[in-house]
Amino acid sequence: MDNMELSFILNEFAEDRDNYFRAIAPPIVQTSNFAFKTVDELRHSFEDEYSTWLYSRGLNPTVEILRKKLAALDAAEDCLVFNSGAAAIFASVLANVKSGDHIVSVKGVYTWAQKMFNDILPRFNVSTTYIDGTDIQHFADATKPNTAIYYLESPNSWTYELQDLRAVAALAKEHGIITICDNSYCTPVFQKPVTYGIDLVLQSATKYIGGHSDTVAGVLSGSKAMIERIFNSEYLNIGSGIQPFNAWLLIRGLRTLPARLERITRTTQAIVDFLNSHDRVEKVIFPFSSDFPQYQLAMQQMSGGCGLLTFVIKAKDVTTIETFCNSLKHIFMAVSWGGHESLIIPKCSGMKREDFNPASQEHRQLRLYCGLEDAGYIIADLQQAFDAIERVE
Ligand SMILES: *Cc1c(COP(=O)(O)O)cnc(C)c1O
Repeated sequence: MDNMELSFILNEFAEDRDNYFRAIAPPIVQTSNFAFKTVDELRHSFEDEYSTWLYSRGLNPTVEILRKKLAALDAAEDCLVFNSGAAAIFASVLANVKSGDHIVSVKGVYTWAQKMFNDILPRFNVSTTYIDGTDIQHFADATKPNTAIYYLESPNSWTYELQDLRAVAALAKEHGIITICDNSYCTPVFQKPVTYGIDLVLQSATKYIGGHSDTVAGVLSGSKAMIERIFNSEYLNIGSGIQPFNAWLLIRGLRTLPARLERITRTTQAIVDFLNSHDRVEKVIFPFSSDFPQYQLAMQQMSGGCGLLTFVIKAKDVTTIETFCNSLKHIFMAVSWGGHESLIIPKCSGMKREDFNPASQEHRQLRLYCGLEDAGYIIADLQQAFDAIERVE
């Protein structure tokens, strides 16, 4: 998709301004239900909720504008927008398994996807095998006659391993397996898994689509047939569709998405360069660094990398890492990413202090999200935190 098309999608597509006073910003149609003039119209809506306004747990005009734009961005026929990325994950998987089925998932996927695979689905006799998804052979080896889903996340959001999406989609089609890919890292601006043959693509719109750390939402895109089937069962039944005001915030976020991604891409490169040259940094993990093991695949499959990177700090104990993080003055310590503000999470915050092993590179990882601040502002903050650990050692 060239820039003209992207600009059209974000500024005009799916907006019917003649219908609302030629307003540039769309109305928030904050209603739970819609009225009918005749019994016949109501009957028709009961029969085909997917193409009528009946009740806002299903369709809503503000959400509709957003849905059309997001599906177009994904190069998909249709999409559903949920009240969280986690709900999009849950609905996509639930819609495609039955008791006795098996899932092949790449390891290192989003925590709540893992919780679903490990804790919820086994109660319904659905099992999951985790594989290293960097080699297509591992998918073939793990596939069983009852495998229903290949669950992908490319790249993942800590160490950024990729899957060759074209190859996985082709293998899945041979076996009649549904492919689902979490595309939160790239956004549809930088990667469109549907164009590689992936059946369902999802993303946490909380991240770059919202872009301002003020809304939680998720997107699930795919063929019209698949999305309509999910709408009529899991979407309506889980009841976790996005609310009109939140949909309006996401439409607002979309207006500036490419500009934000462009800025963040430049800032991130400057920060990767800074970290690579710093003597307290052992390693920087970023898919667009030439030493990344899957750099070639990243270059082929993704047109951008954006703001998430991980670095390994040289530290002989957990206190060093804690001092580094506690010393940051501008970079917030918080979960999530994709907003205006830079964020950091040290891996050691997810473990007990006594379990920290300084010999483990993984334990010394810090995940950094580069926001919309000036690159020099973020770098100066990192530098003064590096200085702080030199002082206490
Ligand atoms: C945040 C995130 C999700 C979940 O999205 P929510 O909007 O927080 O529910 C899923 N996948 C990835 C990779 C994420 O980073």
